[in-house]
Amino acid sequence: MAIADSRQGSEWKDLDGRHYLHPFTDHKSLAKTGSRIVTRADGVYIFDADGNKILDGMSGLWCVNAGYGRDELVDAAANQMRELPYYNSFFQCAHPPSIELSRMLQEITQPQFNRVFYTGSGSESIDTMIRMVRHYWELKGEPQRKTLIARKNAYHGSTIGGASLGGMKPMHSQGGPMVPRIEHIDQPYWFGSDRSLSPDEFGLQAAQLLRQKIEALGPDQVAAFVGEPIQGAGGVIIPPDSYWPEIQKICDEYGILLVTDEVICGFGRLGQWFGADYFDVKPDLMTFAKGVTSGYLPLGGVMVGDRVADALIDKGGEFYHGYTYSGHPAACAVAIENIRILQRENLVERVRDDIGPYLAERWRTLAEHPIVGETRMVGLMGALELVADKSSLARFDEKIGAGTLCRDFLVNNGLVMRAVGDTIVVAPPLTLSHEEADELIGKAWKCLDLTQKAIAA
Ligand code: PMP
Repeated sequence: MAIADSRQGSEWKDLDGRHYLHPFTDHKSLAKTGSRIVTRADGVYIFDADGNKILDGMSGLWCVNAGYGRDELVDAAANQMRELPYYNSFFQCAHPPSIELSRMLQEITQPQFNRVFYTGSGSESIDTMIRMVRHYWELKGEPQRKTLIARKNAYHGSTIGGASLGGMKPMHSQGGPMVPRIEHIDQPYWFGSDRSLSPDEFGLQAAQLLRQKIEALGPDQVAAFVGEPIQGAGGVIIPPDSYWPEIQKICDEYGILLVTDEVICGFGRLGQWFGADYFDVKPDLMTFAKGVTSGYLPLGGVMVGDRVADALIDKGGEFYHGYTYSGHPAACAVAIENIRILQRENLVERVRDDIGPYLAERWRTLAEHPIVGETRMVGLMGALELVADKSSLARFDEKIGAGTLCRDFLVNNGLVMRAVGDTIVVAPPLTLSHEEADELIGKAWKCLDLTQKAIAA
């Protein structure tokens, strides 16, 4: 019997409230509403214990790229667990699934990437990257280069390293002090600016903040710049086209390492294998997780470019870092099969040429709604901005909580999208059909109407 079938929906809610501390949750307020108990999923839909069928416009947490209900992934895990459920890759050991996956990752990434370091999550990948970047500069004889520069409002995970590197103020204010020598510059958020510059001018200006920060810190103190190609949890901040080429130029000029955090953008989300490919930048390191297994098992890692890998290997010495679950065999077996699915079903190309453009065109129609000030989308990752006034693009009074209101209407009407303030974000599985895209847009429009009416009342 499935675990879900062993109790009634109300029993799950009761036990949940009493024993389970959820991530990123205000438990006092959760106690009033109770949790939605999700019991199963198929394709792009999730099902809850109250009998609702809900279109998952967020792919879980931006991770179920290949969609739910993939028997191939289940079989890959089961077969591997029967053969070798666990072994580590410490102490001169390895196993076939982690080696095979490494080969495949080399194949789908840019030519500078020949090696990978495995972790169990995005946050662990970020922590690994921070330590590796600093270690790299120690090996290069410039141990003073310790400072990493990231962006305000970036999300890079919630371990102490991830929270420190991320630019979310509320996270910095809890459980500190944060990791020293991490600096943040403004994000390239054109809609959030005064919009007096064109997007391209604004993108260049936002990139120049990196130069200013490097100069202010002293160029010989800076180790790396780290950014999500498109900021996800921060509200799907799509930088103007001018931004990333300028960032690349500045990193090259100062010789600092360029890191793209591909935890969301990787594995086809933008219609390319990685966000760096979409923006045509050449990072030295890429952190990844989520879509590598479509979330079926936890796995993450860092793609290590030759510049860093050569230093680690040639200058040698032990890198005192690694996790019990680095390269977990069952997770790697699932990742191998997941990449094969993406390849076999041409899902990355499908996002670029078919469902991406289709959803983007439909998504743009939402811009005609009276409370929508902007829509944007790349691949299958998009956002819309709720506004009180379409001509001035003025926001709603914060006290209204328009985003949360809209998000609640959405889920109660059978569609999961996420609210980041008054920005509504979307990132459905790459398998979304045209009909499902139509359903998503229809439900979104209806809930925008409901939000508008509720605010007016
Ligand atoms: N980096 C980015 C860009 C992310 O979006 C996330 C998670 N949303 C993380 C890192 C952290 O990943 P995890 O939750 O697997 O630790």
